[in-house]
Amino acid sequence: MAFKPEKPSIHGETPDTLGERLVSAGHPRYRVGQIFEWIYPRRAESAEAMTNLPASLRTWLSDNYDFSATDPMGKKTASDITQKLLQKLRDGSLIETVIIRAPMEGVGQDKSRRTICISTQVGCAYGCKFCASGLEGWKRDLSTGEIVSQLVQVCRIEDQADPTRAAQGLASFDNIVVMGMGEPLANYDNLLAALRIVNAPWGFGFGARRITISTSGVVPKILKLAEEPLGFRLAISLHGATNEVRNQIMPVNRKYPLEELIPAAKVFARQHGRMLTLEFILIQDINDSLEQANKLATIARELHAHVNLIPYNKVEGLPWVRPSLTRQDRFVKTLRALGVTATLRREKGHDIDAACGQLRLQKQKELSQEAESGS
Ligand code: SAH
Ligand code: SF4
Repeated sequence: MAFKPEKPSIHGETPDTLGERLVSAGHPRYRVGQIFEWIYPRRAESAEAMTNLPASLRTWLSDNYDFSATDPMGKKTASDITQKLLQKLRDGSLIETVIIRAPMEGVGQDKSRRTICISTQVGCAYGCKFCASGLEGWKRDLSTGEIVSQLVQVCRIEDQADPTRAAQGLASFDNIVVMGMGEPLANYDNLLAALRIVNAPWGFGFGARRITISTSGVVPKILKLAEEPLGFRLAISLHGATNEVRNQIMPVNRKYPLEELIPAAKVFARQHGRMLTLEFILIQDINDSLEQANKLATIARELHAHVNLIPYNKVEGLPWVRPSLTRQDRFVKTLRALGVTATLRREKGHDIDAACGQLRLQKQKELSQEAESGS
């Protein structure tokens, strides 16, 4: 079910595709260079802003393209360093983009490292039992332009705080993680087209090594990604070190069990010669036993992977519980004692419902309550 907007997003175009359309509309192809200069380094919010283009071309661009396929609805700020940005799509759907700031010693917060977490779908079909994004199922894939537009909107907002980078035309962030709503590898073609635009010299010129794609374990697409010439980083949401545990919380494991997932991860790591990340949410009495820690260590060592432990973030209506700090520490220490590099992420933005899909779910509930009480 693809959504057909009135006008396509300008952020889904490449010099080739835009060039073709320009030529067939009677405009010279060489204008492409000027237009892309406005779109990415200068983040133009409309064709009217493109003052070195003839008026007829500006009108044609306005009539044919959307410059804001995603529309920021205001930021929610946590007491720590995470900001959630809800963005509204043209069909009224809501998605989340998260800005995570890691402060650096001796510099102000505006100069901190910024990681942007982007969404790839509205909802998610994968139905992991602990996740807010999967609760209401999959609604639709984001288009290439919508994926890129999320990042452009973040730059437009961040530019005010970071005029130096804006003046150089660089992206106003340091890393991208594809860990928002949706299963990125289930929207493979649109995502890859978007990341190629972000990477291209005429786009943001943003290095593939600074982009991490997270998957719940879609094996054929992991193998396909391994063949891509651009070396994106890969994170695998493992969340269970045995099929028994994974089957209980991640339906995808019935289709692609560990005996298929681990070899696919190995192929990826070998092809790209760099470390994978294994994401592991700690959920009390589900996957936080020492037996799971031991088995996880075996997998991590086999894959030479880094383990990122994430204490479970409570989702309203779901029964799962975050383990105590003592149990979290015991788990991470067991991994380290077995020679695995592991970080225990104290979930940033916990106080603004940070885990994937939660803010959107809450906002959508509010909107439908308003609609009900208004009728
Ligand atoms: N679909 C992809 C990427 C989006 S989910 C994937 O599953 O990897 C991004 C990360 O957030 C995943 O590791 C996911 O398991 C985690 N996550 C989802 N719900 C969570 C919760 N309630 N608490 C903590 N992490 C959660
Ligand atoms: Fe989808 Fe990832 Fe959430 Fe699973 S954890 S339901 S794959 S978004």
